[in-house]
Amino acid sequence: MRWSQMFIPTLRDDPADAEATSHRLMLRAGLIRQLGAGIYSKLPLAERVARKVEGIVREEMTRIGAQEFRLPMLHPAEPWKESGRWSSVKEELFRLRDRKQGDMALAMTAEEIFTTIARDELRSYRQLPQIWYQIGDKFRDEPRPKSGVLRGREFTMKDSYSFDVDAAGLDASFDKHAEAYARIFSRCGVETIPVEASSGSMGGSQSVEFMAVCDAGEDWIVVCPGCGYAANLEKAKSVAQPVTDPPGTDAVEKFPTPGVRTIDDLARFAGGAPAERQIKTLVYVVDEKPVLLLLRGDHELNEVKLAELFPGATTRPAHAEECRSALGALPGSLGAVGVTKLRVFADEALRGRREMTTGANQDDFHLRHVDVARDLATVAWADLRNARAGDACSNCGKSLELRKTIEMGHIFKLGLRYSQPMGARVLTAEGKEVPIVMGSYGIGIERIMAAAIEAHHDANGIVWPVEIAPFHVVVAAVKATDPDQREKSERLYRELTAAGLEVLLDDRDERPGVKFKDADLIGIPFRIVLGPRALAKGCVELVVRAGGQTSEVPLDGVVAELGRRIRK
Ligand code: ATP
Ligand code: MG
Repeated sequence: MRWSQMFIPTLRDDPADAEATSHRLMLRAGLIRQLGAGIYSKLPLAERVARKVEGIVREEMTRIGAQEFRLPMLHPAEPWKESGRWSSVKEELFRLRDRKQGDMALAMTAEEIFTTIARDELRSYRQLPQIWYQIGDKFRDEPRPKSGVLRGREFTMKDSYSFDVDAAGLDASFDKHAEAYARIFSRCGVETIPVEASSGSMGGSQSVEFMAVCDAGEDWIVVCPGCGYAANLEKAKSVAQPVTDPPGTDAVEKFPTPGVRTIDDLARFAGGAPAERQIKTLVYVVDEKPVLLLLRGDHELNEVKLAELFPGATTRPAHAEECRSALGALPGSLGAVGVTKLRVFADEALRGRREMTTGANQDDFHLRHVDVARDLATVAWADLRNARAGDACSNCGKSLELRKTIEMGHIFKLGLRYSQPMGARVLTAEGKEVPIVMGSYGIGIERIMAAAIEAHHDANGIVWPVEIAPFHVVVAAVKATDPDQREKSERLYRELTAAGLEVLLDDRDERPGVKFKDADLIGIPFRIVLGPRALAKGCVELVVRAGGQTSEVPLDGVVAELGRRIRK
């Protein structure tokens, strides 16, 4: 490809509204342009990278025996109603009506559609296992589309689905995917950490997310340097740093705390208590009934753990007025001592604590000398809090670390979540009819591209890993109008192309500085420069984008040399 003819609209300056590095560089390097919130056009360079990523995904899916489909993205509502997701998935699903007022949806994932095919076509255990996949557009009305293509409202996903006759079969299909995913991410130059995760709106039992450490990410994971335990913060278990309590006193004492509303207020209040000696009392409304949640003052509620405590229920924080009618006081003075009519759940970190302070259920009053075992005898215990850096690992006791990450892929054991309600069944070897045991597995194509940039860039621009680079090499003459340089770069371009390399010939009549800057910005792994000094010695200059290392290579040996480096 000739640069002079290729559409690469690079920008001289950083775009104003792009915070994430990958977003900024994708705009600057002429890879993407925005059409609307979370909606992007991929320009030719980006499309070349996307094809590379998809190619790697295809190879690795083929390696585990998966078969490629292409299913509609426009879905009638019917299968979504059969699975129950038409109502359980809320605003994230794009819905529309056809001209006959029929309900439709745009593909968010395709569990329902693949399950429909399995139900209509698979009859016997002999046809199993099957792994089916597609690479196609997905639509999600994300609440906060941001960071460019890292979180779009339209994006490309490889989604696959496994169909097995039993749980052991599912385990095998799941493990195959875990291996394929590890290979895909490593080939794309994105280092990922597999973590235990929550299954969210897909349903099902076990799930593993592949997380890339990345500043632009929005997910926190917990990792243990001791035993390798790794989990999404949504799900992570840990043991809180213990607090040593003084000996208890005989009775709870009420004391005035005028104006004290928050944990911090009470920590600063004369006669108050530091956060770790306070009981934080939250009121949540679970299926229309108020419920009390108790945490150590310095701990945060984990909403995913809360949702898992009440499967299928809707939960929300209570409004101030609901708190007053349930407990007789406003938030800031709430507590669970003496509460008998409401269900109370306490976080494990409060077990056995003494000399605690909490709200008195009377505005501007608190209670001190609270002994959890004595004064809160009827609470139910649960893991309700977010793990924190420095907590002890519940497996090995080592101190846990927190990392900011972005989810690159997610593999789920769905079990019977879709086959049961949708009636996808097969006959076993014994002639018994059983629901198919399913798994589902997703990878975001654009997310891989953006995460690769997050991991591989420098002050001058993108540094593409060779396997997903839009071109392998840029060939640039120092002076495009010089007949000798032009003739030799044209010949090199032909020879490199004939050797199977993807070459961008920078034939623009621009200053060398401009050309080199552009080549660096768009991140091509190698650059060959034809200038008068090296050519006089029969050589060219070979520049490696990663690290900038420069060497002189004989003109007639450069094709072989580059071939060697790229194969490596
Ligand atoms: P997140 O928690 O980041 O929203 P998710 O849990 O909704 O992700 P899945 O439903 O598991 O994601 O989708 C599978 C994969 O699709 C993700 O691992 C990610 O690579 C990709 N993906 C999901 N949502 C988006 C999006 N809005 N933009 C780009 N890629 C996405
Ligand atoms: Mg999501």
